[in-house]
Amino acid sequence: MIDLRSDTVTKPSPAMLEAMLKAKVGDDVFGEDPTVNELESLAAKIFGMEAGLFCPSGTMTNQIAIKVHTQPGDEVICDKLAHIYQYEGGGIAFNSGCSVKLLEGDRGRFTAEQVLEGINAFEDYKARTSLVAVENTTNRGGGSCYKFDDIIAIKKVCQEYNLGLHLDGARLFNALIQNNETPKQYGKLFDSISICLSKGLGTPVGSVLLGTNTFIKKARRVRKVLGGGMRQAGFLAAAGIYALENNVGRLKEDHLHAKLIAEALSQKDFAGEILPVETNIIVAEIKGSLTPTDFTAKMKAAGISLMAISTNQIRMVLHLDISIKMVHEIIKTIKEL
Ligand SMILES: *Cc1c(COP(=O)(O)O)cnc(C)c1O
Repeated sequence: MIDLRSDTVTKPSPAMLEAMLKAKVGDDVFGEDPTVNELESLAAKIFGMEAGLFCPSGTMTNQIAIKVHTQPGDEVICDKLAHIYQYEGGGIAFNSGCSVKLLEGDRGRFTAEQVLEGINAFEDYKARTSLVAVENTTNRGGGSCYKFDDIIAIKKVCQEYNLGLHLDGARLFNALIQNNETPKQYGKLFDSISICLSKGLGTPVGSVLLGTNTFIKKARRVRKVLGGGMRQAGFLAAAGIYALENNVGRLKEDHLHAKLIAEALSQKDFAGEILPVETNIIVAEIKGSLTPTDFTAKMKAAGISLMAISTNQIRMVLHLDISIKMVHEIIKTIKEL
């Protein structure tokens, strides 16, 4: 089966598994796992930030960040498509007791002016706006990327109104590779950054939260409260180190593969609007003779798995377990539908 449902379906390569097997480990709740410590400081160094915290998932790194940045009764500003709002089980309310101000962005991206409009007046009866969360690349927005200048403008508003600025960078490396940006540019602007190792970078588990020493000290405590304190987690962290050292540059292949498949799809009558393919995600409207469910079923019958994400849209996600040979097979199948 060629699996395009998500970039989380990748399996560790033999070389990654070997790095995991060889890891030196200790009890990370005691702060004694050398490989976890190495991953945390490597990620922090890459972003020019003070400290990192290894967590089991991107949901946990985001939720911890929100918890540390806010007090119950505060409000978080994010896009209406944001993962932290759509796909984290209501965690903003559950874990942090906060409400959200949802912005009507463009494919998951919003502007500094929208943030400004979204900030509540400082009144007794208003929730206190305390945090802005940016997602780059956007997941539900089809892998779209922010222009860096737009993030700088958002940061200015946050500084003026004393708001924290968090980055859900589950797929940040896709944006960096695509736009020739550097991790340090992002490290300078954001108060906290969450990166996923288990998506395009291909590890079985893990995300890293980055911030100042003080922020990460608080975050470490919240991780424990949420049950995310792991013991000999170095076996997992070793996969993360391997991924950061070996799997970042190749992301551009996924972007090329996504463009090739989208191009083939666009020639078909049943393809409606295809969101501009900026990185490794294709979101396409399916219309006329086929429904998204029909399309998904036909592709599945040909050995290709993907997801219908709404009544009229499908999603395909490229990743490191999809070779160019498979891409040709996918294109051939689409052409014959
Ligand atoms: C996948 C993802 C996450 C985290 O997901 P987990 O499955 O909890 O690791 C967070 N944000 C975005 C934008 C994502 O795509």
